[in-house]
Amino acid sequence: MHVDVDKLKNIENYAEKIDITGNICPSKYGYDQLKILMPVRLIGKIENNHKIISIEGQVYVEISAVCDRCGQDFSLSMALDFAESYSNRAEAIVQDEEDRLHPFEGNIIDLAGEILHQIYLEMPMKLLCRDDCKGLCAGCGANLNNEICTCSGDEIDPRLEKLKLLLTDLSEKGV
Ligand SMILES: [Zn+2]
Ligand SMILES: [Zn+2]
Repeated sequence: MHVDVDKLKNIENYAEKIDITGNICPSKYGYDQLKILMPVRLIGKIENNHKIISIEGQVYVEISAVCDRCGQDFSLSMALDFAESYSNRAEAIVQDEEDRLHPFEGNIIDLAGEILHQIYLEMPMKLLCRDDCKGLCAGCGANLNNEICTCSGDEIDPRLEKLKLLLTDLSEKGV
């Protein structure tokens, strides 16, 4: 996921629209658990302000996730806010006490690291394949989203199960 700033970096106080699509390989950036399913798209604005290049907009990404409720893989679409600044001047990076600036060299800015970090930050706490995911039956393990439960509908409370066995036992003994 790269932006070519060959022209822009030489035009002071200039902004333009940006709409780029690119591939990101998460494992190359240390995000081994993450799987991105489609090319990533960024729509927004890029500007050169006093030799600092800022990119702002929305990132659209689709990742592979596992549902917390039913355990199925599903694809999670995310729209992330993106706002990052870059500089190719060593002195600007050194003076940047808040660590706001990312360094770049040459004509190309690589956005992958910041996008991956943003995905990580905005990942929902609870991953659900759909809002009304019915999950798995505690009795037979059927995925209730697309299977019919085979255990007669009533989940048996283990305590009641014990009582039932006891009663059967007693009746067999003729008590
Ligand atoms: Zn689910
Ligand atoms: Zn069941």
